Amino acid sequence: MSGSATAARMREFADETRPENAPQDWIETAVDIGSELRRSVLAQEWTVSRPECDGSCGAGEFIQVLRVTPNAGHPFGQVMDGWWALVDAGRFSPWFLHDGRALPHQRMPYFYGPRRWRTDCSIGSLTFFDDPLSAFSHDEAYFETAAICIRHRGGRRDRLLRAVRWGWCDRGRIRRPSADEPDGDRIDTDILSDVFWRVLELEGSPYLKARLE
Ligand SMILES: [Zn+2]
Repeated sequence: MSGSATAARMREFADETRPENAPQDWIETAVDIGSELRRSVLAQEWTVSRPECDGSCGAGEFIQVLRVTPNAGHPFGQVMDGWWALVDAGRFSPWFLHDGRALPHQRMPYFYGPRRWRTDCSIGSLTFFDDPLSAFSHDEAYFETAAICIRHRGGRRDRLLRAVRWGWCDRGRIRRPSADEPDGDRIDTDILSDVFWRVLELEGSPYLKARLE
């Protein structure tokens, strides 16, 4: 993408994320709609603190991408290096394609949506929750989650609070944070992988690397 095209998309995105234009989900306290669900052994929950955020910051959000090995079920995602790759809850997700649920936001479908399960966002922290049952149905399933402060401290860009890689091989039996790493628990880092950005680009997402400070 050329520099001017990037700048134009950055301006467009900046307008869409002004507090007055932001989806209500971003600014309301998230409602716990997942606590009564029975959690599977795959359930994930963790909290990201926001020590440098203050009252001038925008809402917190998550963007999550995933890659799974194809199986014989209904296809979803798009093919990338032999994987089915997608932005979670986005327009190529089973959430949207097969389950008939709404996108978290029409123009910004890459945002996870606090009301999706139980994602509590406050000025002090973000709590992530997901129970990705689809990992039982694929030989390998790898997730990468970006925790983001939108328009950090009233600026024009967002702050990456944490990047987390996590997943499984052997149909949910063995934990492995990504296809390129040894077996183990999730990895917390402050760097998003190239795969993360490639999946967003594949999906035609207007969320650009340049958006993050
Ligand atoms: Zn902030």
